[in-house]
Amino acid sequence: METLYAAIEAGGTKINCAVGTGPDDIRRRVRIDTRAPEATMAEVVAFFAGASAELGAVAALGVGSFGPLDLDHSSPTWGHVAATTKPGWVWIDMVGPVARRLGCPAAFDTDVNAAALGEARWGAGRGGDDLVYFTIGTGIGGGFVSGGRARHGLTHPEMGHVSLRRHPDDAYPGLCSFHGDCAEGLASGPAISDRLGAPLNELAVDHPFRAILADYLGQLCAHAVLMLSPQRIVLGGGVMNAGGLHAPAAARMRHHLGGFIVHPRLAADDFVVAPALGDNAGLAGAFALAMDVAAA
Ligand code: ZN
Repeated sequence: METLYAAIEAGGTKINCAVGTGPDDIRRRVRIDTRAPEATMAEVVAFFAGASAELGAVAALGVGSFGPLDLDHSSPTWGHVAATTKPGWVWIDMVGPVARRLGCPAAFDTDVNAAALGEARWGAGRGGDDLVYFTIGTGIGGGFVSGGRARHGLTHPEMGHVSLRRHPDDAYPGLCSFHGDCAEGLASGPAISDRLGAPLNELAVDHPFRAILADYLGQLCAHAVLMLSPQRIVLGGGVMNAGGLHAPAAARMRHHLGGFIVHPRLAADDFVVAPALGDNAGLAGAFALAMDVAAA
């Protein structure tokens, strides 16, 4: 008998919900605007209740969410959004209402860890690569999948907030409310628009800022190589959709590594890549989370 799973990819502007046997066989799906939490979560629960009534019981629920999140299984607020900057969503339970309604086990992770897991299992890392996934969008986040599992530890990685060496041609102060000119403060979509008055995809293809951005992305990748030694790095998110950034970022990564780490993969064209699953990586990862918790 086929096994059905429930998957949620919760973003700051929309929540994608799906039921199916996996990311390639979605039977029901809906996209819900992220509004006030009570009304939004009621709509999410109603979708899954309806889908389950039509299709049958689901084996498990996987949730990848914007954060920060409480991922500590021993915590009474596991499954909740923690100190998010999104108004009204602090200490909202993203998992409990849906899992109780469906009567199934649930797994919970960050949106970027879910996307990393989706890419590792069915996308750019298919075949078992340990990979780092960075999303360069309204924020910058990073997830690390090793041995098929997303890395947690103390809480979860926040790779987008590492410090970068400032490019000599960049005087922008940075807009991270915690760190100023961390990676997110310098290279996220809002930082680019604030600095230049327009998003990257509206700038000329030879705009000088592209080289600065490639340098920052290259530094991020170099940090990932030095600290995590992944077999592949995936760069996704809205900023990367402007195009033409992966190869320059890889070149700057090699520059910043300075020849210190010698491995043919670092020189390969497919070391720094775009997400193979495109915008579906996060939802695919939520399915992977559900499958893993059902099998546990
Ligand atoms: Zn920061």
